[in-house]
Amino acid sequence: MEQTPTAAPLSGLERSTLRELLVHGPKSRAEIARELGMSRASLTRVTRTLIEQGLVAEGPLELRGATGRPSEVLRIRPEGRRFLGVKLTGERLFAVVTDLAAQALAEYDEPLASRSVEDAVAQIAGVYERLAAEHPGIAAVGIGLAGDVVAKGDRQTVLQSPFLGWGEVPLADLVGELVGVPVATENDVRALTAAEHWFGVGAGYESMVLVTVGAGVGVGVVVDGKVVTGASGRAGNVEHLPVDPGGPRCERGHRGCVAAYLPNAAIVAALRTPGLDYANVLELARGGDPAARQAFRDAGHALGVLSGMLANTLDPEKIVITGDGIAVTELARDEIDAAIAMLRGPDEAPVALDIQPFEFAEWARAGAVLAIRDHLRF
Ligand SMILES: [Zn+2]
Repeated sequence: MEQTPTAAPLSGLERSTLRELLVHGPKSRAEIARELGMSRASLTRVTRTLIEQGLVAEGPLELRGATGRPSEVLRIRPEGRRFLGVKLTGERLFAVVTDLAAQALAEYDEPLASRSVEDAVAQIAGVYERLAAEHPGIAAVGIGLAGDVVAKGDRQTVLQSPFLGWGEVPLADLVGELVGVPVATENDVRALTAAEHWFGVGAGYESMVLVTVGAGVGVGVVVDGKVVTGASGRAGNVEHLPVDPGGPRCERGHRGCVAAYLPNAAIVAALRTPGLDYANVLELARGGDPAARQAFRDAGHALGVLSGMLANTLDPEKIVITGDGIAVTELARDEIDAAIAMLRGPDEAPVALDIQPFEFAEWARAGAVLAIRDHLRF
């Protein structure tokens, strides 16, 4: 297995410069010096180190600013580092190799061999070896999974993951011992929120909420430019918000909570027809089947209640809705909007909804962004 060259840790100014270029794109030296308040001498030192480490290159002349004066720009070298992102579900392991700009270079997935911690750790290490052989120089690994993940001291611990049946698992340390590069773990929805906030639809926003719909309902929150974790890694845990006390029961036995309507399995269950899966019900709804359409309308109402409540609680600049259950926004947009309107005051601004199509590989890519942030200590 090829080892990643060990580079010296970056200084604060080096990290700030790199982050500026990563998030906002190429900039001239003068722009960076102005934005980060750096002297010419420190900027020269910082860029020399970043160029030596292969993280930054000097680009061709570009026309910059209002004067249109040509200026040489600094840009990141995406090929300067590679990262492995992993997403674990109860059934499968999804992996993606990205460059420094979080662009996917390779995607891979396979069934999870078992849900035991030991097997999963060995399987992640095996996938790392396989992908590192094709894409040498992976500098760090990031793993996202559904569950409560917190930092205890400088150790990240999976407090619990119901899909996997895990409790108190130091997953990052266990995988790190096998792969020999730094490993970070995070709740999958928070990792996706951080990825969108950094590289995606939330770039530049100080406050936003990300709602994922699919197997479960996840909520990630950015306040004052930071993804909120909470005291026990459970911030955004609002899947069981009550919607209708006379509604159907969720898995936990609540009547009419969001989880009783909105997850893909709840939409399927609403039809009370054995043998149907989510894809079948989606097809029925698109074909105009009344029961299937009603199931999506009820799911949309629940999503609207959830979104309106989040908008009122956090006053975000926007709410991003994504996930593999995103079809609810196409089939029940009116119900979503009506439920939000019901919860908003008459003189309040409409909630800015940003509906994003979704591919499952996005979860693994979010793991890679986690690795990038951890590697660069952002
Ligand atoms: Zn519930």
